[in-house]
Amino acid sequence: MSSRTEPSFRESVDLMFNRAVKLMDLPPGLEEKIRVCNATYTVRFGVRLRGAMHTFTGYRSVHSEHMEPVKGGIRYATGVNQDEVEALAALMTYKCALVEAPFGGSKGGLCIDPREYEEHELELITRRFAYELAKRDLIHPSQNVPAPDMGTGEREMAWIADQYARMNTTDINAKACVTGKPLNAGGISGRVEATGRGVQYALQEFFRHEEDKAAAGLSGKLDGKRVIVQGLGNVGYHAAKFLSEEDGSRIIGIIERDGGLFNAEGLDVEAVRNWIVKHDGVSGYPDAQFLENGAALLEEECDILIPAALEGVINLSNAERVKAPLIIEAANGPVTAGADEILRKKGCVIIPDMYANAGGVTVSYFEWVKNLSHIRFGRMQRRQEEARHQLVIDELQRLDDVMGNTWSMSPDFKDKYLKGAGELELVRSGLDDTMRAAYQSMREVWHSRDDVTDLRTAAYLVSIDKVAKSYHAKGL
Ligand code: NAD
Repeated sequence: MSSRTEPSFRESVDLMFNRAVKLMDLPPGLEEKIRVCNATYTVRFGVRLRGAMHTFTGYRSVHSEHMEPVKGGIRYATGVNQDEVEALAALMTYKCALVEAPFGGSKGGLCIDPREYEEHELELITRRFAYELAKRDLIHPSQNVPAPDMGTGEREMAWIADQYARMNTTDINAKACVTGKPLNAGGISGRVEATGRGVQYALQEFFRHEEDKAAAGLSGKLDGKRVIVQGLGNVGYHAAKFLSEEDGSRIIGIIERDGGLFNAEGLDVEAVRNWIVKHDGVSGYPDAQFLENGAALLEEECDILIPAALEGVINLSNAERVKAPLIIEAANGPVTAGADEILRKKGCVIIPDMYANAGGVTVSYFEWVKNLSHIRFGRMQRRQEEARHQLVIDELQRLDDVMGNTWSMSPDFKDKYLKGAGELELVRSGLDDTMRAAYQSMREVWHSRDDVTDLRTAAYLVSIDKVAKSYHAKGL
């Protein structure tokens, strides 16, 4: 155990920001303006439940309004506090800038363990929280647009959207007040999977670059790589599922609240997820070794470590023992500033949170645009595209007929080529493009400057530069 003390989450984000900003030449005072959190609103409100009044504490923090609306999830967890929402709001600013989603950064949270409440109770609490935020424009299509985060999902977002609509009955853009809604309440295909899908696309892009793999001492493809995931919630589950089902990676470890599962041959992600849903934890799952101290698996030998649960899990107390050569931060802030330094010295490559989990806000951006344009993506062009493809197929078919046995179309070419892109295909394509472009912008800085030796610093440099330019454009 190190004698150094660990900074708070917000201090940790600031330390990483400071480390990067030292390498920049910003106008005097701008550095501080970008770093500080503009405002944090604390609300305490009462809800009558089970025959008594219960008081809840919630926050909505706005880090930067260089672009509006500001954007960021709402978290339900007992540990929510002002320092945490401010750190998360700051990360949202940098994340949105990095992936070019036109938003400032924000984040919200409610101190509550959602598992302790019935669905109808959670609805009352969520609606009241949404009311408190909406009446101060902290939920608003053009000012502040929340999304899901830990402990919240489509259901909560639907309640928030409905609450806003009840308070703003003539707002034609009311649905754009929040993203991550269910499809039948103004959502978009592919939002639920988006953050995990983004983690997959980020790793696919990383593995396209020999130089980058070599920096982590890795080679080859994602196929067969040993992966350990912490947190099989929305983000962790989708990332693990896609990596194992589509890229052939082997998920050898899964860490959850009640312990960890290990199987060197690979775990069946779907089966583990079903077990968790049924038994409220991983304990008792038959096809793996169970470790009561799940966090010990963070230190296990593997090729890729994916922390996808909480912040601060890789810290001064365990960083020295972490063996993974590549860490992708699916969660926000899973590696503290001190641990980051230790891991860098050990040669571990970290794909930073502000990039790694940006898939969520990217698809949220698509959803917001869909809500404002009031039309599903692909609706206008899909059949026209298919009709044009049909013309090509007809010509190829003619060729096929006259060529006899010497040439014919590949068996599934016709079906694949004919199918025009629907909303889900377009969303995935837009997400893939975003993740590739953002990675390119980071790696360019990483490899072109001698004073930048890691992807996190590169990510900060790219995003701070974009935020600074947008201040400059405003004449500030
Ligand atoms: P979630 O609530 O769906 O899942 C979190 C999972 O972590 C749950 O399965 C929970 O049981 C598990 N967990 C909680 N405490 C744990 C512990 N001590 N050890 C191991 N597992 C633990 O949340 P989520 O939406 O998947 O978010 C996870 C992380 O990803 C958070 O840091 C969040 O800020 C970040 N994130 C989420 C999104 C999104 O779209 N949902 C987007 C960007 C970033």
